[in-house]
Amino acid sequence: MLTRLFRIHGLFVASHPWEVIVATVTLTICMMSMNMFTGNNQICGWNFDCPKLDEQILSSDIIILTITRCIAIVYIYFQFQNLRQLGSKYILGIAGLFTIFSSFVFSTVVIHFLDKELTGLNEALPFFLLLIDLSKACALAKFALSSNSQDEVRENIAKGMAVLGPTFTLDALVECLVIGVGTMSGVRQLEIMCCFGCMSVLANYFVFMTFFPACVSLVLELSRESREGRPIWQLSHFARVLEEEEDNKPNPVTQRVKMIMSLGLVMVHAHSRWIADPASSDGTLDLPEVGMSLNENLPKRIEPDMPLWHFYLSRMISMDIEQVITLGLALFLAVKYIFFEQVEMESTLSLKVPTPSSMLTQKWSPDQCCRKEIPYSTKLDKPPTPPPIVTKEERDLVIRPLPAPKEPEQKSTFVLGEDETQENTHVSEPVMSLPAEPRPVEDCLSILKNPDMGARYLSDEEVIVLVNSKHIPAYKLEAMMETPERGVMIRRKMLSPKFPEPSTLSCLPYKDYDYSKVMGTCCENVIGYMPVPVGVAGPLLLDGKQFQVPMATTEGCLVASTNRGCRAIALAGGASSRVLADGMTRGPVVRFPSACQAAEVKAWLESPEGFKTIKEAFDQTSRFARLEKLLIGLASRNLYIRFQSRTGDAMGMNMISKGTEQALARLKEEFPELQVLAVSGNYCTDKKPAAINWIEGRGKSVVCETTIPAKVVKEILKTSTEALVDVNISKNLVGSAMAGSIGGYNAHAANIVAAIYIACGQDPAQTVGSSNCITLMEASGATGEDLYISCTMPSIELGTVGGGTNLPPQQACLKMLGVLGASQECPGENARQLAKVVCATVLAGELSLMSALAAGHLVKSHMTHNRSKVNLQEAPGTCTKQAS
Ligand code: NAP
Repeated sequence: MLTRLFRIHGLFVASHPWEVIVATVTLTICMMSMNMFTGNNQICGWNFDCPKLDEQILSSDIIILTITRCIAIVYIYFQFQNLRQLGSKYILGIAGLFTIFSSFVFSTVVIHFLDKELTGLNEALPFFLLLIDLSKACALAKFALSSNSQDEVRENIAKGMAVLGPTFTLDALVECLVIGVGTMSGVRQLEIMCCFGCMSVLANYFVFMTFFPACVSLVLELSRESREGRPIWQLSHFARVLEEEEDNKPNPVTQRVKMIMSLGLVMVHAHSRWIADPASSDGTLDLPEVGMSLNENLPKRIEPDMPLWHFYLSRMISMDIEQVITLGLALFLAVKYIFFEQVEMESTLSLKVPTPSSMLTQKWSPDQCCRKEIPYSTKLDKPPTPPPIVTKEERDLVIRPLPAPKEPEQKSTFVLGEDETQENTHVSEPVMSLPAEPRPVEDCLSILKNPDMGARYLSDEEVIVLVNSKHIPAYKLEAMMETPERGVMIRRKMLSPKFPEPSTLSCLPYKDYDYSKVMGTCCENVIGYMPVPVGVAGPLLLDGKQFQVPMATTEGCLVASTNRGCRAIALAGGASSRVLADGMTRGPVVRFPSACQAAEVKAWLESPEGFKTIKEAFDQTSRFARLEKLLIGLASRNLYIRFQSRTGDAMGMNMISKGTEQALARLKEEFPELQVLAVSGNYCTDKKPAAINWIEGRGKSVVCETTIPAKVVKEILKTSTEALVDVNISKNLVGSAMAGSIGGYNAHAANIVAAIYIACGQDPAQTVGSSNCITLMEASGATGEDLYISCTMPSIELGTVGGGTNLPPQQACLKMLGVLGASQECPGENARQLAKVVCATVLAGELSLMSALAAGHLVKSHMTHNRSKVNLQEAPGTCTKQAS
């Protein structure tokens, strides 16, 4: 419930960044100007001179204050230094923005509420800096930066807000209450400081909840995408941020302790303000009162008797010693950070996180220089990961002496410089040689953790040692290496000894693939990719448009045969199609204490009121999922609820599972005895043959038809209408009935569905339900020699966004059909168009295969086009192309 609220808030803020930023800034400026224009514009140190309370401030106080200020500056410096390790200038910028705006709001709040007591501001500032928690702001920024596209930014900010918001709120509350205890101390200075502390926490929180996410959203949306369509901010190592944040969920026990502590502290505050001291029952802090005591010390307006620039310059020059120390430290750290560490970081980062696409697009030129291949000393021979290409300037920055080895006797450390021993045309190139023998685990670990070094300074063997000693989780290899490809290569290396032949994987390619699109989305423990031949059938003339249909298959004849069907359709003037229904389903199973109770819940769900309640919960989970129907089955105490919803251009299984879970949570609020047995109770039904999909439909239900003139049947299909109709009845109808088939009243719909699904990034397992099809043929026309043919497919499960459709090769195939991604005009239109193409291609395939059967050509053509030409006994082990 709380999470949902934060999510909605996050989505709102991220979706309306301009409005939120303008509102926040306006509010802050209003507070400031209310102050300026209502008489209390007496801010010390600017145009007003604060009465110096020199006599009250002891020299020991000055020392303590100076130390506190220095600690605060160093603290902020280290916070920023930690952020560098994340490797994104966006994160740094965002964190800087957060700090600056938080300080601005804090100062405004202090000036607004405590305008009578501004002398304390200087003292409070360091205290405030110590309270800025950049980690949460950065975690939220990481959520945003983990987006694969600009569309996802808002969604990820909302997710981040849902994950971080509750914890941050609780933390802010606890901090405020704990620091607030100080305002009751009776010690004036402490009271002021604590009051400022509370305000800084609140300002921090306010900025985190409003201005900050809005700015992140705006900045990232304004940033252009790179030429490859990849967001310029996106870093592959943020791809797992969602998982990691899930893993790092706050300990529920700690959260409970914080809640109990907050309650206790609220009671303490209530007691001290309303019960112990009814006079101050307005609930404000004691500060105005403290300020009153200082009224006689109000700041005096300065009327300088010299030019203003001269006046301010002389004021700056005549700084106290503690101010000089603080300012000096701040300047020193800022210069160190900006001019030294920053440059270093950028150059190492450009090596650490080269985007695979940029690696592919950049060509080698003599002006560019890269590290030479690391000498890999494995039996597996094979070339290592292609070295990242870097500019000359970067090389100069990167190739520098590294820290000396810890132990002098340990010779095997990095040697960076010219490698004359290498047989290479680029003799003068610098090279980094890695030790032949793995160094001790501790050394490897410290290199890995060192932000200036990282995995690229470790040999493959050392990485393997770290994996075996559980310091690198095997599943995180891609994320933790300098490029995902190296992670894949090392996994293959680790796997190879487990096969009887070490070269087993040599024919499974792994190079030159954009794994960043795979990580955290499409596949885990990746060891390569499977190239499948892709053919094209077409043009397919459908609803007046031509399509070239990509088909990924290893079945010879399939593409050729489908192509023939397309030709027949085109000569017939094309095919026509309609989408009959559009609704993905998820069918969980829930249990009640008795069958009677289950029956009552069924009746409630079928009532308009019940449906409305559930729909409200379901619809909140997505911008596209809208619950349309509930189909409920009952078996004893078990209830099977089939949720049906449109899913825009997505196939929708994840989307609808999310909605279902939310709807079940709402149902449980209504009927607490409900027990969710499984969010999928096979009543969906996904990836299994089931009559329910055939009868009720699932995904897109499509029909497609055409009439083939007798001449085309004869000349292109080499058969007759009569023979085709006869075979169709005997095979597709009676034959399937004899076999007890459900939805299998066709010749080979699955062939076409599977081939298009593999080419276009669909979930191939959904071929099971998507191939439900009834093919009908009739004689038609004046002479009865034309062929009317239709295919009706009630459960085509597919999408053009999400899942494998995010991968570049699959996207190329979707592009061929003009259905890539989300439809801009009408969400869902691209997916529906793809479903129509699938149905029409199935019709083409049916036409051709049935003709081959009717003409008795099937076996003959398969013998010609589908028989292996190689000697199968000799086949294995002949591949030498890609090496592992
Ligand atoms: P998804 O990628 O999980 O969800 C689609 C995402 O795209 C949503 O975040 C959606 O926004 C967003 N989106 C943007 N524009 C859209 C548009 N025009 N139409 C629809 N969505 C749009 O994809 P999915 O189709 O739900 O799930 C597909 C994956 O589920 C595949 O990888 C498949 O293999 C897998 N799968 C899962 C299950 C399961 O049980 N969970 C079962 C079978 C397959 P919103 O956030 O606003 O919705």
